Amino acid sequence: MDTAKLGTESVAVRNQAVLGEAPIWDARTQNLVWVDIIGETVYFFDPVANKDRAVAVGEPVGSVAPRKGGGMVAATSGGISALTPSGRLDVLVRMEIDKSRRRMNDGKCDLAGRYWTGTMALDHSSPVSSLYRVDADLTVRTMLTGVVVSNGLGWSPDNRKLYYNDTIARHVDMFDFDLATGTIGNREHLIEFRDGPGVPDGMAVDAQGCIWVAVWGGWCVRRYSPDGRLVGIIGLPVEKVTSCCFGGKNLNELFITTSRYELSEAEFAEQPLGGSLFRFDMGVTGLPIGEFGG
Ligand code: CA
Repeated sequence: MDTAKLGTESVAVRNQAVLGEAPIWDARTQNLVWVDIIGETVYFFDPVANKDRAVAVGEPVGSVAPRKGGGMVAATSGGISALTPSGRLDVLVRMEIDKSRRRMNDGKCDLAGRYWTGTMALDHSSPVSSLYRVDADLTVRTMLTGVVVSNGLGWSPDNRKLYYNDTIARHVDMFDFDLATGTIGNREHLIEFRDGPGVPDGMAVDAQGCIWVAVWGGWCVRRYSPDGRLVGIIGLPVEKVTSCCFGGKNLNELFITTSRYELSEAEFAEQPLGGSLFRFDMGVTGLPIGEFGG
């Protein structure tokens, strides 16, 4: 079992994001792009210049992705939009998700340019959410229903598996995946979060096929083998660990987002790095991510 315990020295960006989330490495710009969903902001972190640029977008933003041909797209409750440098969202495809009961949550593109994005129930308990697939031609397909809080998303190195978390259900699921057609099937529970504090939130897959799961409420990121065995734990000084991705020039750094959501004043005083972005080199490399569009 590989273990590490991160502290202040591993902070990449000191921030007080309410809900830091959905980090991705944009190889084109060499930026680590992440969002504060509730803070309605997209951040562009340049690790070489050590600068983090904030772009306010004016609505909760679940995730972002590079767009083929340049720029970024963002998934919000209005759908998928092109994100302008000033933070304006130009809608490419509208999605009706009933904002009174849901909001857009985690999302990511596959290597064929499809945007996979899911919703979460605002009451954190009703199975009213879905996972959608938005194709390069802007067709929207509902891939899963009955979800409470749609999270995770990662693909195996050979692109034959999709990993997925319904956070409230407390398990990491694995589907057969077909990159050519974008279809999924044969859902199975790969990892159970039965005991102890914490539930599975965002995730990343490394080049060895291991699955890194951010544990919301669990003060850590866990690494699992492709067959679901726990093989590593990275402890953080923050309770609400939201997601992770590999970045840096050689994709060898794990970037980890965190949250200060609903921490009391006393709790935040004990974990003042809640909402900061962390980075850590575990000697493992990640996989390139997809860009949206054809
Ligand atoms: Ca999440």
